[in-house]
Amino acid sequence: MSNPKPTVILRNCPEYNTDHIEQIILEGLDTLQLKPHGKTLVKPNVVASGNHFPHAYTRPEFLEGVLRALKKAADPDTLQELAVGERCGITMPTRYAFEGAGYYPMFKRINGLKHYHFEEETQVEIPLYHDERLRDSIFTPEPIANADFFVNCPKFKAHPWTTVTFSLKNYIGIQDDPHRLIDHDHSLNEKVADLQYIVQPQFIAIDAITAGEGRMLTPIPFDMGMVIMGNNQVAFDVVCCHIIGIDPLSVPHIRMCHERGFGPASLDEINIVGDLTLAQAQHKANGFSVGLVRVEDYFEGTNIKAYAGAPPSKDYDYCWGGCPGAMEEAIEIMRLFDSRTDTKMPKTHLVFGDYKGTIEAKPDERVVLIGDCATFKGDIAGTPHEFTSQYTDRSQKSVYKAKADNIFSKMVGVEWKMFKERKNQAFRVAGCPVSVAEQVLLLVKLGKLKNPYLDPGEIITFNNCYFSSRIRMAIDRMFGKPYQNPGEAHRGHARPEQNLPDYKNVQVKSQ
Ligand code: SF4
Repeated sequence: MSNPKPTVILRNCPEYNTDHIEQIILEGLDTLQLKPHGKTLVKPNVVASGNHFPHAYTRPEFLEGVLRALKKAADPDTLQELAVGERCGITMPTRYAFEGAGYYPMFKRINGLKHYHFEEETQVEIPLYHDERLRDSIFTPEPIANADFFVNCPKFKAHPWTTVTFSLKNYIGIQDDPHRLIDHDHSLNEKVADLQYIVQPQFIAIDAITAGEGRMLTPIPFDMGMVIMGNNQVAFDVVCCHIIGIDPLSVPHIRMCHERGFGPASLDEINIVGDLTLAQAQHKANGFSVGLVRVEDYFEGTNIKAYAGAPPSKDYDYCWGGCPGAMEEAIEIMRLFDSRTDTKMPKTHLVFGDYKGTIEAKPDERVVLIGDCATFKGDIAGTPHEFTSQYTDRSQKSVYKAKADNIFSKMVGVEWKMFKERKNQAFRVAGCPVSVAEQVLLLVKLGKLKNPYLDPGEIITFNNCYFSSRIRMAIDRMFGKPYQNPGEAHRGHARPEQNLPDYKNVQVKSQ
């Protein structure tokens, strides 16, 4: 018998036991009647990893259980490739994130497994046709464009810019830095919705054993003890929202994807099965907090005073996907590396967006406008100042000319900027967005803090990963592998007739 509704499976899993996780995933694949085939690609969330970010990523024990189960469940005659691919947080090499996550030894244990660092792959253009699109095309790494059986394997976390990062939001890691940074601003939710047209996963399995509260890079661990699986991203995220007690339609990217036909938002249209009821899952998640906090409130009670005006859009009064949230993540990184960050920081004023109010800064307090759209007109310590917007409308930014600096360029850039502005009380750091890394480097200079990118415990590994990545890309380019394939119609993903997944016709075993 078949059940036409998208299915979400709730399973109890108190610890990171790979054998147990493998069994749970095998049973999930069986329930959903899924057989991995062709090019099977698994996308974990490894935005950051290692000792400083222990709860930010899909744990290797979890991923290994998923990979083993996929291999067992696959039809060996039709499985061409089993692979893992990811682009970690902007600026850092994915090799470094995989190393810190302990993935490489695990990869070796899965016979024949391939892995992709997405920023090193050719970026393929995917045309978009839907009315609400931000642009006419977007780029994604070739392994994503070519995947026949796509598995989304996120970490259950809160997110300071998008409320939560479950299955839909994990797609931000299917673009390399230059393409990811485009539209990573107040339209971040629309961007996440647009990324859905590239490919939809046949299978989703989220690491909700130790979930992450509050933030995405430095979340507070929350012992949730669950594995959740599904076959539809919207239905999956909707159930996850209900588990933590938030209205799924209050999360803009989930609402947008639902409105565009990617899946149902009502629990009546979702088949929830497993060894936990929704009520039991809610009990396990009781008290989990999400992290949508405006920057002015975030810095309340510290030496940093933040001021936020509207971004350049009539539809938004705050830039949830850009500079303010990046600053919140930046200060948390600094606190991780230096517990005295807050006491060391001098009184500083940070301005975001079109700010219309006053700035009560004393003559020795720096005022920094963060981002191209930041504006201010008025007196600062008795001296008149005027900063007008330098924002370039998104229609003027081309996906074909997308660029992103590496961490060494950013270090040099911030160093030079601070030298040039050394005598100015108020100045702007340009960019849209100004990345987390640049804001970390800015705080380092303003507060004379330790530079986390030069941490002695990490520098050798980081440099090894960084230069391996650069050498690999240089060799590829030398032998004719292009960086971008503009106009390439790969596999017809996002063709008009394939724009929407036929989620109403999935077949699962009845329970
Ligand atoms: S400059 Fe920053 S705050 Fe302004 S629109 Fe761009 S990302 Fe948002």
